Amino acid sequence: MKVKKINAERMGYSNKLMVFNLIRYSPGISRNEITKITGLDKSTVTKITYELISKNLIHEGNRKLSQGPGRKPIRLEAVDTAAASIVVKVGVEKTVLGLGYLNNFIEKVSAFDTPKNFSSFVSKVAFEVNKIYKDKNGTNIVGISFSFPGMIDRKNLIIEYVPHFNWSNVDLKNAFLKELPYWEKPIFAANEAKLALQAELYFNKEIKNLNNGVYIFISQGIGGALLIDGQIYLGPNYTAGEFGHMTIHEDGEKCFCNNRGCWETFASIDTISKIYEYSNGKLEGQNYEEKFKNLIDKAQKRENNAYEIIDKMLYYLAVGAVNLINTLNPEFVIFGGYGYLFPDNYFTQIGNLIKERALKPTLKTFKKATKPYFDIETACLMGANLRVMDEFSEKALV
Ligand SMILES: [Zn+2]
Repeated sequence: MKVKKINAERMGYSNKLMVFNLIRYSPGISRNEITKITGLDKSTVTKITYELISKNLIHEGNRKLSQGPGRKPIRLEAVDTAAASIVVKVGVEKTVLGLGYLNNFIEKVSAFDTPKNFSSFVSKVAFEVNKIYKDKNGTNIVGISFSFPGMIDRKNLIIEYVPHFNWSNVDLKNAFLKELPYWEKPIFAANEAKLALQAELYFNKEIKNLNNGVYIFISQGIGGALLIDGQIYLGPNYTAGEFGHMTIHEDGEKCFCNNRGCWETFASIDTISKIYEYSNGKLEGQNYEEKFKNLIDKAQKRENNAYEIIDKMLYYLAVGAVNLINTLNPEFVIFGGYGYLFPDNYFTQIGNLIKERALKPTLKTFKKATKPYFDIETACLMGANLRVMDEFSEKALV
């Protein structure tokens, strides 16, 4: 296992936190591997790991399978029950609630259709959260974390804008605490694309050791997130990465954002499904995901004009990605969100278009156009859980 020093640094500044985070993000890692990655002395690593074991934050798992002779190394893992979070993925269609654990395990607990009215939404969430919290007697729950399909002020917990519901400038924290006055644990909220990138960063082997990249969140619209020098760049108002609203055609269709010809009016799954349905009637399926899967299936079988429509979608995705590659000089682009449904050949097709059109010097360091490791729901829940557990870890080691 090879991780650049900078990745280890990104994981924390104190040695203890660095070792603990390394174990959290690489379950099954051995003491030897930690020594190699962190550059710490063997004895320091041994001392730290025994301290973490005595605090019941990590435990020793099975010995690693190894080909060579001698003793097999011991696997180290975070203790799942040491801390739990309630994670809430708010989607345009449904909201999913789950429990996230210190060892990154996510357990989905309930789901409901997302009410368009903000007060109804908060009441419904509070009802479900209360149920989960009471079921667990609050044991080890160290925070709640929301993922939203919109722009969120992370610091003040203000929903700046969720376009599909037209929620604008609403105080999430205040509304939530009005419903659940007993809640004293930390509350987190963030944009879904940034959370998805956070999850990919630690678990997607394809981008391991890469410190600059772009995550394109393809869903009803197009969102995004940016990794710059190993850090997710958020911008002063946390809205960086809204690539879906870059202009692809200055005179194109009007977008809800008031601009014209935005990227998402060409390549979101909402747009693509509507184009297909305009000439062929309704796509079968209970929700966006099923309908989009269906469309991909039809494109593979070359039914009606599905192939041509998907082909155009991939073309526009590549055109937008080239704008981002030329501007940002990234090492990777993940076509995430519902991009996890894309067959492998879609990435080849997009990759070829990128090679054809992007500036040659920037391509020298561009490694790949790739698929996400997680499906859309897991990515958001996983990212939401990581935020709670990152904070828990820092506090636990003080
Ligand atoms: Zn727009």
